[in-house]
Amino acid sequence: MTSNTRVVVIGAGLAGVRLARRLGELGTPVTLVGDEEHRPYNRVLLAEVLAGRYSPDVIALPAPAELTRARVTGIDREARTVECADGSKIAYDRLVLATGSNPVLPPLRGLFTPDHVLPEGVHAFRTMDDCLGLSKAVRPGAKAVVIGGGLLGVSAARALAQRGAQVVLAQQGERLMERQLDPSASKLVQRHLKDLGVEIHTECRVRDVRCVGGAVRSVEMADGYALDADLVVLACGVHPRVGLAQVAGLDVRKGIVVDDELRTSDPHIHAIGDCVQHAGTVYGLATPALEQADALAELLAGDLTARYTGTRSLTRLTLTGHDSPFDLAAFGETEALPGDDVVQLADATRGTYRKVVVRDDRLVGGVLVGELGTVGALARAWEGAEPLPSDGGPLLHLLTNDGGS
Ligand SMILES: Cc1cc2nc3c(=O)[nH]c(=O)nc-3n(C[C@H](O)[C@H](O)[C@H](O)COP(=O)(O)OP(=O)(O)OC[C@H]3O[C@@H](n4cnc5c(N)ncnc54)[C@H](O)[C@@H]3O)c2cc1C
Repeated sequence: MTSNTRVVVIGAGLAGVRLARRLGELGTPVTLVGDEEHRPYNRVLLAEVLAGRYSPDVIALPAPAELTRARVTGIDREARTVECADGSKIAYDRLVLATGSNPVLPPLRGLFTPDHVLPEGVHAFRTMDDCLGLSKAVRPGAKAVVIGGGLLGVSAARALAQRGAQVVLAQQGERLMERQLDPSASKLVQRHLKDLGVEIHTECRVRDVRCVGGAVRSVEMADGYALDADLVVLACGVHPRVGLAQVAGLDVRKGIVVDDELRTSDPHIHAIGDCVQHAGTVYGLATPALEQADALAELLAGDLTARYTGTRSLTRLTLTGHDSPFDLAAFGETEALPGDDVVQLADATRGTYRKVVVRDDRLVGGVLVGELGTVGALARAWEGAEPLPSDGGPLLHLLTNDGGS
């Protein structure tokens, strides 16, 4: 690439902003196009804004000076231009899609008004606008129902409870955060939420959202049980935002398919972050998005050896309330297969739990709740995938020695 190469990045979220900043530092100018009204921000910290702990300014990202606020509506691959909603066109030599994810809207009766907007009181939880809308609507004593008990639902329920709402969390699965946590860790999360006053229903399918005069009034379960609701939060997962790529004819499966150079099926178009599928995986997490941005910055700035080969990243949830801090980290496989070695340390009084799973002398997963002193040492052992010494001692050592982290 020459210094005249026009790099255009669509999406000013975590991945797009990181890429633009890195390229700026490496002397490659970029046009960054984002459709959100707000200054770019760290989405991971939205729950802290909802909880009233941070103001929106605190979670702003150090964005590059040049940001074009526009929604890109089409890509002309022949002409190498993108078209924006206001009719303007931007030419590129290299285009990067960093369009993130959309919230999954569950197929519930009553969820959409005839003009396809969510009823008053029903909110997704993905953007700063969602967060500010929810924040404005929540009052002490308000009846809030959170649908979905994954990372997002747990964060939203906790934040709303901290704002004084009466929160009910409805989780279709058997337990909370089942993608990341084993049953013991999940129980601790449940206990933590209950201590904050959140009522939790597991194995509970919501079927209907009932509205009066366009505003939500209650949520009905599959068994007919109804919960009064002033507010409903949809936290049912996300799917990659791939519409632009699809219409442009790029290879899209679960996400936009990219190779180790983060290149799509068109050699002039790259993609990074939540919207991509790399080696069969759609991550939907912050660390892979940032690592992809860093690798692509190196490549576009001229290091032709740079590659992205995947991320072994742990999920970390830090919920630091004034009176009730709660930390957890989970990585890899947290449930053992027959023949695996497992070490667990649990302290019911302090609400802490630590567990590692080892297979063929390699650490394959672990979960830490409430006591994260060893997380650095564990992450290094996991990311390195080095064989552990075989005398059994290191397992306990990994769980009890904080390794200076
Ligand atoms: C409340 C919440 C908590 C989370 N907590 C965690 C956590 O604890 N740990 C973790 O690892 N991850 C967490 N995540 C997920 C994490 O935020 C995402 O993985 C990360 O933001 C992905 O970055 P991205 O840049 O790919 O996408 P995004 O941050 O979604 O950015 C994409 C941007 O592109 C814009 N865009 C899309 N299409 C267009 C278009 N056509 N024109 C212009 N702009 C466009 C979007 O509006 C958006 O601003 C959380 C997410 C949420 C919502």
